[in-house]
Amino acid sequence: MAATPLASAAIARLESEGVVSVVGTVVNPAGLIHAKTVPVRRIGGFADPGLGASPVWHVFAIDQAGVVVGGDIGVVGDRRIRLDLDALTILGDGLAWAPGSFFQQDGSPDPFCSRGTLARIEERLARAGFSALIGHEMEFVLVGPDGSRLPAHLWAQYGLAGVLEYEGFVKDVTVAATTAGVAIEQFHPEYGANQFEISLAPRSPVTAADHLTLLRIIVGRAARRYGLRVSMSPVPFAGAVGSGAHQHFSLEHSGVPLFSGGRGVHGTRPAGEAAIAGVLNGLPEAQGALCGSILSGLRLQPSSWSGARVCWGTENREAAVRFLEGGPGNPHGANVEVKVIDPSANPYFASAAILGLALDGIERELPLPEETTVDPATLTEQELDAAGIVLLSNSQPPTIDAFAESALLRSILGDSAVEAIAAVRRYEHQNFGDLTPEELADRFRLAWSV
Ligand code: GLU
Ligand code: MG
Repeated sequence: MAATPLASAAIARLESEGVVSVVGTVVNPAGLIHAKTVPVRRIGGFADPGLGASPVWHVFAIDQAGVVVGGDIGVVGDRRIRLDLDALTILGDGLAWAPGSFFQQDGSPDPFCSRGTLARIEERLARAGFSALIGHEMEFVLVGPDGSRLPAHLWAQYGLAGVLEYEGFVKDVTVAATTAGVAIEQFHPEYGANQFEISLAPRSPVTAADHLTLLRIIVGRAARRYGLRVSMSPVPFAGAVGSGAHQHFSLEHSGVPLFSGGRGVHGTRPAGEAAIAGVLNGLPEAQGALCGSILSGLRLQPSSWSGARVCWGTENREAAVRFLEGGPGNPHGANVEVKVIDPSANPYFASAAILGLALDGIERELPLPEETTVDPATLTEQELDAAGIVLLSNSQPPTIDAFAESALLRSILGDSAVEAIAAVRRYEHQNFGDLTPEELADRFRLAWSV
């Protein structure tokens, strides 16, 4: 088949830049990033009709071997992964990358595809007159190649020593991200030993998740150059600080921001209040897609800034939903941060769940609960009850049951996606549910690493 004009132009550009091989990635319901590569001259075929992949890619589990067949997913059949050439990015050293989406062989969308699911939510929002931006945060812990703990004698929370100890790594990530067009807002040592955070500028939802995937590749490649690896586990070491994958979102209707310029609380407009209410309302059922892995409950504890309590508050780091006001100190404008999401989640599904819940709140005009202005841990049980503040479950089975049985999440993500996510998470509990926290952290420290 002759290459399309888009593919021909891309091949010419890549060859002139010395690119030899193109990596296409997809993210599965367990949060694993899978890849296929082609020589440059084959990118046209990777884009259309796509490369074959078994439907079981959707149900690969985090233990390096597990595959959870059942329901609509079996060993018979084949899907196509199509590269999105519009997002093609040169990585350097002869490599380029682009995100892929799953399709059926006849070219129709595959309902299990996370990238396709998020694109459909973007379209749903657009049909209702809304547009969204998402800003991702990536927290991670540097470890040895075998997942071993690195020395941290100089480490202080957010300490300068972290930057200086890993100066070359920090510089390499920054250069590679800048070259790739991934807009780093800030990059700093975090609370935990050898833990870092990178936050990204807001982008439209699918592009934002693509850039997060690309950032994980960039960080993984840079770490390797220094003989390091990157733990993307929500709990790299039991009992130590966990890693979140917070997402900030903002919404506009016909170009008018929903979280500022209005007469509601902190300048929100009625639809903005309803959007926040929608997210809060759906969080307990959405946990399966946001923080549903076997490690997630170990992170989701009060007083760990993971937002374990379902409430919202301005700059409240113990609220599941943190409101950030616009203004001179916040040039991207007012936005809402969902803190419960962790790096074991598929970021496309997580964004789709959040935006779908926000839209549900808007459509049903849900009332915004009272703001929580203090650390909810300082409230008595009676005060928590009176304010309707619940603690999210940190036990995987009820979390996954609530998700799998949620008509709301099924209406947002689709039955296929919900069932695949529930299946890979149930597998984790069935096979590893009796491990201690220490054993779990050791076993899965590198499960999401690339
Ligand atoms: N590491 C914390 C978490 O697990 C978040 C710290 C922060 O607020 O940046 O979500
Ligand atoms: Mg952080």
